[in-house]
Formats: sequence, structure tokens, C-alpha cells
Amino acid sequence: MARLPKVLASALALSVPAGVSAQAAPQAEWSIAIHGGAGTLSRDAMTPAREAEYTAALQAALDAGAAVLRDGGEAQDAVVAVVTLLEDDPLFNAGRGAVLTWEGGVSLDASFMRGDTRAAGAAAGLAHVRHPILLARAIMEDGRHVFLSGEGAEEFAADQGLERAETEWFITPRRRDSLEQFRAAQDDPQVTFNEDAEHRYGTVGAVARDVRGNLAAGTSTGGTTGKRWGRIGDSPVIGAGTYADNRACAVSATGTGEYFLRAGVAQGICALMRLSGMGPQEAADQLIVEVGDMGGDGGVIVVSAQGEAAFSFNTSGMYRGRADSNGLNEVAIFTDSPPVDPPMQAAAEH
Ligand code: ASP
Repeated sequence: MARLPKVLASALALSVPAGVSAQAAPQAEWSIAIHGGAGTLSRDAMTPAREAEYTAALQAALDAGAAVLRDGGEAQDAVVAVVTLLEDDPLFNAGRGAVLTWEGGVSLDASFMRGDTRAAGAAAGLAHVRHPILLARAIMEDGRHVFLSGEGAEEFAADQGLERAETEWFITPRRRDSLEQFRAAQDDPQVTFNEDAEHRYGTVGAVARDVRGNLAAGTSTGGTTGKRWGRIGDSPVIGAGTYADNRACAVSATGTGEYFLRAGVAQGICALMRLSGMGPQEAADQLIVEVGDMGGDGGVIVVSAQGEAAFSFNTSGMYRGRADSNGLNEVAIFTDSPPVDPPMQAAAEH
């Protein structure tokens, strides 16, 4: 029999305490965390009315997910309740209100995973599926494949009876303006384009633990403004933008997708927790530092097998919220401290 490399053997040894702690009493019977994107956003650029709109939208989505879990519902259904609401809300870069491609259309991506069986589903390049997250879940439930794209994915969605919408339904004036600004900035270096506020802000995601101890995660996005050539980011990629494993945690990411793909962020956090016994905050911070070191920015939401919810981001803001069976219930946009390098300001929230 081949000998295990030393480093792997020691990692396996370290997994024992993590497995033991997974059987310990949960910190929260149910727990949920949500996000609506991360980026560089200053308080000055946000009007009080706009801030109130975002806060209300996040609170409504958090409440919808928490209600499912409080009633003894499944983590999967809580994730779907949150993400479908945010997909319909034009404030966020998912479903209706998604950012536009170079050609002026939409190309939507989503992924979904459950932590008990590690079954997963994902879809990319959609232009007519009203709720990409429902398609991701349907692909998972069907079970033949994990990742579908483009026309084939839309055909599968139609076979499943999922609601269809015309491309125009997804497109909002705000996103049309952003695309125009983006195109102008490509042609003329004098024109500035606020990368974060207009380029991609607003991907949505949710992670949850239900009273049975099952975890689930889901992420949905329009990607980045002006994307071309069939570009796909991290959001629909299982292991990068989304992951759930009952032995460790559930994760949904948002940020510069190219870096989250390269760092394998979502699965990386779960693996760190499982193999090293790290808590969700420490593991999430470690991967976000890795992303930052490579040149990327963004953040993650994590719920551990014990029901602990954590955020980590290296941007000045992340639309986010969390609630649990112990009475935690909060939504937030900005961080109060300026980003630090290495970027771990979210840890200061604990
Ligand atoms: N991660 C998304 C993408 O790269 C964008 C975002 O989360 O802001 O497509």
C-alpha cells in the first residue's frame, strides 16, 4: 500500500478533534447568514434613503429565512427563501437588476449545495430563468449532473417547469447606465468608473443550519458589468463561490470572482475547519487574506456545523445579516473600522 505523504497524514490526525467537536452541543439550534454583495462603498456615497432601502431588503430576506428555520424547516428551504427574494429585488446583482454583459444582455449564474449528502447543483449563462437558484437546486435534486450552462440549462429549466422571464424583465435603467459608463471608460481612460459600486456590487447568497443540524448554501449573481466571451466567475462554481459540508460549515462568497476561483475559497474554508479544527471566523479570515494577497477583494458568509455565523471581508462594506435561535438578529452594510492589511476587519465584529 502506498504510504500517505507526511503532510496529509498529519492533517488526518488533526481531523479527529474537529470530528469530535462536530458532535458537541450546538451553539445555536438554527442559524442563518445572508449577503447581498461586498465592495468598496463609502458612507458618503450612500444616501440615507438608499441605505434604508438596502437595510429593509436585507432584513426582509433574513426574516424570511429565519422564519423557515424557526418553524423547523430545512436549511435548504431557508436558503431558497432568502435568495429568491433577493433575486427579485432590483437593488441586487442577481435575477432582476443583474448587471449587464458587454452586449447589453444578462448572463445569470447560481449554485446550491446541501451539507448532509454534499449533493450540489449549478447553472451558468442563463438569460431567461427568473430564479436561477431554483434551477441550481433542481439540478441538484435531479442528480444526473452538477453543472449546466447556457441553452441546455434553460432547456432543463423548462422541462422542470421553472418560471421563465424575458431578458427585458431583468434589465433596469441603473444597470444600463453602468454598462454605458463601463463602455465609455474602456474607450477613454479619462472617464472613471466606480468598479465596486457599479461594476458588480450585489451578488446574493445565504447559508443556514437547521434544527436537525443540516447545512445548506446558495449563491446567485449576474456576474460583472461588461463581462464578455462567456466569462463565468466563482458564484456558480461549487467549491469556489458555494460549499456546504455538515462536517464543517456552509459558505457563500462574493467578490472578484477570478480570485475566489483561484483560491478555491468556499471549499477551502470548510477544509480548514474540518482538518485543523479552526472556527469559522478564523478559517474565513485566512481564505480572505489569501484572496487579498493575490489581489482580489470581497467576502464570505459562513455558518458552522454548530450554528456559529461569521462574516469576513476585505472591502469597506458587505451587505449582510445573520440571525439564530439564541435571538441574534442583525443586518449591516459598512464596517466601522477602515480596511486593514492583511484585511481582517470583520473579525473585529466578534
Ligand atoms: N463573484 C461574482 C463574480 O465574479 C461577483 C460578485 O460577487 O460581486 O461573478
